[in-house]
Amino acid sequence: MELTFLAIKPDGVQRGLVGKIIQRFETKGFTLVGLKFMDVSKKLAESHYDIHRERPFFASLVEFITSGPVVAMVWKGDGVVASARKMIGATNPLISEPGTIRGDFGVSIGRNIIHGSDAIETAQREISLWFKDEELVDWQPQISTWLY
Ligand code: ADP
Ligand code: MG
Repeated sequence: MELTFLAIKPDGVQRGLVGKIIQRFETKGFTLVGLKFMDVSKKLAESHYDIHRERPFFASLVEFITSGPVVAMVWKGDGVVASARKMIGATNPLISEPGTIRGDFGVSIGRNIIHGSDAIETAQREISLWFKDEELVDWQPQISTWLY
């Protein structure tokens, strides 16, 4: 089944939003398969955001992501990549729809609370960058029968 990579950024952790954010994905019906609370090295941050290397905000983005602990997660479910992006909302929280995580909790593009992979291939790359195989749990919650 499809997997995506999500990370609660340092601002989401500092603001005490970890529980609320995880709850949204749980109650939606997605399955948690990987979770770790960690500091992010400069090397990992630069590699994760490699596609933005030439953008003017790259250095401040790396500084921000490495500024405090993050919650790195892998979630599973049919269509989870696109659905999680929809639940996260537009990059700029001032434009994100109410009801999305960024739309409900944020006001600044430089402090937009959470990362989510933007495509299935990106998710595969990000999962292998952030997690070892043995850190992912292969399980099926019993509730699946009632979801699908
Ligand atoms: P998304 O996280 O929605 O996929 P992007 O991939 O375009 O957004 O950008 C990655 C991250 O870079 C954003 O989540 C945000 O933290 C940061 N970022 C993007 N654009 C800007 C900007 N103009 N100024 C500051 N930070 C930005
Ligand atoms: Mg992106």
